[in-house]
Amino acid sequence: MPDVVSLIRTKRDNTRPLTDREIGWLFAAYASGEVADEQMAALLMAVYFNGLNGAELRAWTGEMIASGETLDLTGIGKPTVDKHSTGGVGDKVSLILAPLVASCGAAVPQLSGRGLGHTGGTLDKLESIPGWRASLSNDELKAVLKSTGAVIAAAGSGLAPADRRLYALRDVTGTVESIPLIASSIMSKKIAEGTSALVLDVKTGSGAFMKHEEQAIELARTMVSLGEERGVGTRAIVTRMDTPLGRNVGNALEVQESVAALSGEGPDDLMEVTYALAEHMLALVGIDTDPRAAIASGRALDTYKEMIRAQGGDPDAPLPKAPHEVEALPAPATGWLTKLDALAVGVAAWRLGAGRARKEDEVSQTAGVRCLAKPGDRVQEGQPLLALYADDLARFGPAIEALQAAGVAEVASEPPPPVTLILRQVGG
Ligand code: URA
Repeated sequence: MPDVVSLIRTKRDNTRPLTDREIGWLFAAYASGEVADEQMAALLMAVYFNGLNGAELRAWTGEMIASGETLDLTGIGKPTVDKHSTGGVGDKVSLILAPLVASCGAAVPQLSGRGLGHTGGTLDKLESIPGWRASLSNDELKAVLKSTGAVIAAAGSGLAPADRRLYALRDVTGTVESIPLIASSIMSKKIAEGTSALVLDVKTGSGAFMKHEEQAIELARTMVSLGEERGVGTRAIVTRMDTPLGRNVGNALEVQESVAALSGEGPDDLMEVTYALAEHMLALVGIDTDPRAAIASGRALDTYKEMIRAQGGDPDAPLPKAPHEVEALPAPATGWLTKLDALAVGVAAWRLGAGRARKEDEVSQTAGVRCLAKPGDRVQEGQPLLALYADDLARFGPAIEALQAAGVAEVASEPPPPVTLILRQVGG
């Protein structure tokens, strides 16, 4: 019979890989209370330093999946394909992509979490729509998926419950930033959700978890292998997250920009990532349809409205607006804007109230940031580059402080070279 202190020492000293039996015992003992949180936290720290090899990671992920229920989406009658992003600033792609890909003939089951830290959560964004409901029973979510082709809802507590406990421990013990722990956390939920195919958007850059491209590629490869081993057709793209995606950051502000995108008025950077992901999703399920045509014809917008209505929301109701607005971040010179730092903008939006510091915090529906200029735009010295929105005037000071560090915005006398946001494809 394994004992937890020996397992912690084995992983701490990296003497040998843990066996499937040991990992199975660990999860069972953690679920029963025999292994305490502090022991699991010590083991997580050992994994943070010494990693998990392929076999350990497979067993670890398998135990997280087996800790709860697995949805069966085979009765939907269409191929299912989901997308997951590792999170970025202004990353509203899911709101556009789910109805877009559904309007091309696939079924998109998007079971999401809430935002934490400077990256926003899809559910928080949609909750700014009057009446919209994130919590659905499994039967309800299958019914919405079947009738509209897309559903975005809160992942129920029955899916990979071990991840919920481990994630909460990691959050308070400095063990979030570990490739095997992130990969097993994300993939256990996606595999348990029952999708047959999955496209991952792994972000890299200042506004992402993975600051360096090599780390992002390794995370992408790790997740693609886990998906493929479990029979989920999985591909990843690694995308740049140095500048906010689109112009709006914040819950209702991002819904507004997503509706504009579905109406054919999306900014180029947002649409580059959205179309790339849509094409990969459709290719994975063998649908040969141009997603641009679905936006141009209005089909994608119609599907979005059906999806919102099916969850109690009114897609035509006016979105809430913040009572206070302040312009900020004066351009440091006249010329071309070459940099607008995603992390600084994300932290400012978070301090304005758009994000939460702890899971139980409330978020503001209306707080956030609008980029008045983006890299590549011509700007005049002193021109405000951002508009800030908040419910409460006291929020502006700390937000403006986040924007005062050197290098948040940079201006040059030459326009910056065009950048592609899609750095590489992994798998497929
Ligand atoms: N998102 C998750 O679901 N899990 C992680 O570990 C990190 C990001």
